[in-house]
Amino acid sequence: MKRLAILGSTGSIGTQALEVVAAHPDLFEVEVLSAHSNASLLIEQAKKFKPNAVVVTNEAKYKEVKEALLMLPIKVFSGNDSLNEVVQWQAIDTVLGAILGFAGLSSILAAIDAGKRIALANKETLVVAGELVMQRAREKGVAVIPVDSEHSAIFQCMVGEDLNAVEKMILTASGGPFLGRKPNYLVNVKASHAIQHPNWSMGAKISIDSATLMNKGLEMIEAKWLFGLRNEQVEVVIHPQSIIHSMVQFTDGSVKAQLGLPDMKLPIQYALAFPKRIANTYKRLDFKDFSKLTFEAPDYKTFRNLAIAKDVMFKGGNAPCVMNAANEMVVNAFLQNKVGFLEMSDMIEKTLDQVPFIEQPALDDFRESDAEARNCAVEFIKKSQLSMY
Ligand code: NAD
Ligand code: MG
Repeated sequence: MKRLAILGSTGSIGTQALEVVAAHPDLFEVEVLSAHSNASLLIEQAKKFKPNAVVVTNEAKYKEVKEALLMLPIKVFSGNDSLNEVVQWQAIDTVLGAILGFAGLSSILAAIDAGKRIALANKETLVVAGELVMQRAREKGVAVIPVDSEHSAIFQCMVGEDLNAVEKMILTASGGPFLGRKPNYLVNVKASHAIQHPNWSMGAKISIDSATLMNKGLEMIEAKWLFGLRNEQVEVVIHPQSIIHSMVQFTDGSVKAQLGLPDMKLPIQYALAFPKRIANTYKRLDFKDFSKLTFEAPDYKTFRNLAIAKDVMFKGGNAPCVMNAANEMVVNAFLQNKVGFLEMSDMIEKTLDQVPFIEQPALDDFRESDAEARNCAVEFIKKSQLSMY
């Protein structure tokens, strides 16, 4: 029996993780649930899964959750500091990090410090502070098991393999809803269109990141730290069918790939159950339904976020942190129709130019760079043409 803390339980990954838990009550038990603002769903989940505690990080929602769970033996906490304490509780074996963005970093670090096994969906944690996070995990002897489908694929390909025998890792990207489009088309696209991913159903932010290819850029940096790669060993190929979830090429020229239908419950289940592989009845991949699996090079000129992220990976230091913060802000603004699709890359680049570079940042430097980049991006967003209407 694995006792889980599911951080970000009301999100796309969090709710799917609870589906996996519900399907395997003999294997998993929910110890802690956390969410930010969706009090009603958190309450419903708490009633169903009966955790020992829930944490609602948005303090304005505390009263509502507390009152709703008053008659149940469930402790209710609020705020980030409480979350960082609760994840360290002895009763927890595994922490699923499914909080969105930079906000997920501190609870993951707290969980690592307490020696918890980490199932990590929150890629921004590794983008911002991958070196520090993985270093701490090594010191504490903590396993960080990826939930992101590409990294889960690579993790599965690496079982029984030696990192020294890896030539490169190849992340597959669907290309998102605007594959093949050019800037003259993209200049006018709206959030309602960008959010419709052809193969995956995901949260709003990552759906926009998939449309701009920033998601694949974030995943390059995530892969670098997670697997301990040199920058040159991380590659991206567009594979519109999303059947091959990623690949590893070895020094003998052999390539291993992991395949499956695009369903996040698979990598979630794999990460939660690892090293076991547990049976399920989800729909199976039938090769006859996919007579063509195709591959092409990404268009770095049109989808500039991918080029920016690649540059930032090579630059290192606080650059990925600054890029991530600016991206979180502009994606949020794009979702509210305050900035245009192509403007997002301009604003990220300008933020990177403005925030001072730090070559070897400590945790506090990341917090400061994140805040500074957010302030900077807000100024660019205010000046956007779209914001004026
Ligand atoms: P989501 O927006 O659907 O859910 C986010 C969750 O985080 C919610 O439970 C929310 O309450 C919580 N949250 C948001 N802001 C918070 C804050 N400031 N403090 C504490 N909690 C906060 O997001 P998602 O799509 O489930 O993605 C979660 C993470 O998983 C992201 O890092 C994303 O990149 C990664 N991921 C998602 C998918 C997917 O299919 N959705 C796939 C791979 C990786
Ligand atoms: Mg992914």
